[in-house]
Amino acid sequence: MNIVLFGKPGAGKGTQAPRLAERLGVPLLATGDVLRAAVRDGTPLGREAKAYMHRGDLVPDSVILGIVREKLAEPGYRNGVILDGVVRTVPQAEGMRDALATLGRKLDAVLSFDVKDDEEIVRRLAGRTICTNCQTPYTGLEPGAACAKCGGALMRRKDDEPDAVRNRLKVFAEQTAPVLDWYRRDGAKVVVVDAVGGVDEITARIVKALGKQ
Ligand SMILES: [Zn+2]
Repeated sequence: MNIVLFGKPGAGKGTQAPRLAERLGVPLLATGDVLRAAVRDGTPLGREAKAYMHRGDLVPDSVILGIVREKLAEPGYRNGVILDGVVRTVPQAEGMRDALATLGRKLDAVLSFDVKDDEEIVRRLAGRTICTNCQTPYTGLEPGAACAKCGGALMRRKDDEPDAVRNRLKVFAEQTAPVLDWYRRDGAKVVVVDAVGGVDEITARIVKALGKQ
């Protein structure tokens, strides 16, 4: 079962992804993680990605998709994968389809996390903080509060400040939202799940919507 997670920033993909991986028995592949691992391990594509990063440039889609494709060819991903963060633009969606095709595979579902109210997302992300010392993430604690693990001060990521979030939502509407229409036209099974509610409740909705319950 090959699934792509889709949704606005702050829609809960990162929270649900590991839970779904466990419930469905399918490993998770997050683009950011595989990219960092390839750079750290110094694979040929990882070295290429590193060169772009050193120049302060975005790593091109072809390099990222190449790294994801190499990972998908590994035995651990043979029976399926939950892809998080890999398709944010239509060219990336096309590239992902082609990469899967070279492995004789295709997407079984696009799981779309639906949060209609953008201000709900602004509120959610404003409630996230991270320890400046040990990087532990928190929800519902104010910047400046003490980390429960190490006593370090919590801060809010610049990305999660309300103005930054509104800007990310604007980019999503312009570049990423059209990806869902592209998938529908391309014949993918698009599963839309209401992503407002409790964490367990949403996991249960997703498992049900995927017909895995
Ligand atoms: Zn800490």
